[in-house]
Amino acid sequence: QSERVGFIGLGNMGSRMANNLIKAGYKVAVHDLNQTVMKFFSEKGILTKDSPFEIAEASDIIVSMLPSSTHVLDVYTGPNGLLCSGNMLRPWLFVDSSTIDPQTSRRLSAAVANCALKEKKDHWETPIMLDAPVSGGVLAAEAGTLTFMVGGLEEAYLAAKRLFLSMGKNTIYCGGAGNGSAAKICNNLALAVSMLGVSEGFALGQCLGISASTLTKIFNSSSARCWSSDAYSPVPGVMDGVPSSRNYEGGFASKLMAKDLNLATTSAQEVSVKCPLASQAKQIYMELCNQGHGMKDFSSVFRHYYSGKDE
Ligand code: NAD
Repeated sequence: QSERVGFIGLGNMGSRMANNLIKAGYKVAVHDLNQTVMKFFSEKGILTKDSPFEIAEASDIIVSMLPSSTHVLDVYTGPNGLLCSGNMLRPWLFVDSSTIDPQTSRRLSAAVANCALKEKKDHWETPIMLDAPVSGGVLAAEAGTLTFMVGGLEEAYLAAKRLFLSMGKNTIYCGGAGNGSAAKICNNLALAVSMLGVSEGFALGQCLGISASTLTKIFNSSSARCWSSDAYSPVPGVMDGVPSSRNYEGGFASKLMAKDLNLATTSAQEVSVKCPLASQAKQIYMELCNQGHGMKDFSSVFRHYYSGKDE
């Protein structure tokens, strides 16, 4: 691969995604505020840069994987941001894989399209941005089996497909700018509600005298079956290799789920759609964070909310 990729945000997800790009042969330069992770990459011989601006100067394609909209705005439009050089940009493609609100994705996509390219890329007159959040979590990021849901110009999506498939195994085109972000927050809304439903069912079931293993068999061969019951059980001791079997460490932090539910309820308000379950789920996850469990996996709602115990 001759294209240079600048990767910004080397956390739980980004560090693994950047590694897969390196393995696929892309020339990668990285940036993160966290100096420890920067040192880790530079010791492996990977080019590190001190700001998003310097990354932009050295890259044809940018990928960002940051916690929330504020961080993404900062990286794009901040003082040393990707777009700070005015308008003559080297990168022709900007991919943001962070889970953020569709409105911010749309605003940034317009800001990118308003810039000019230093050197014309094929027939593109301006750089292009795709919102491309992912589903799959840390294990899928490591294994390169993420699913990308992508919004933006379809031609750019097709041109970027090879890049996505270096980090994932599925890509789904969702429509215009912001639609990838919209798809992601709807997915996580449904996931949060299913996780709460499964946790509530198990908490009640156990109090009514049914063992967790029996109830797991029932759910998974009945109409309650879902990913939270058959692949990611929130009940310790039911499944190996999931966060509930390791004290809810690793996985998808409750504070990130609270953030995504906030994105869903805010978006719902903006388009005047009632989402009462998303609002209730947001309250529950915010309560969990306020009690100090924000870093635990989101399936820890079973232990910390439904069991009433606090360990
Ligand atoms: P994380 O907190 O582990 O990593 C974020 C990284 O961004 C950190 O290394 C941080 O130092 C860096 N960062 C923050 N602000 C920065 C800035 N201004 N400039 C440069 N670097 C900056 O988060 P994560 O778990 O990797 O998640 C990233 C995104 O992916 C989030 O939007 C999350 O919702 C989404 N996501 C996470 C998972 C998961 O299972 N963890 C799954 C799917 C999607």
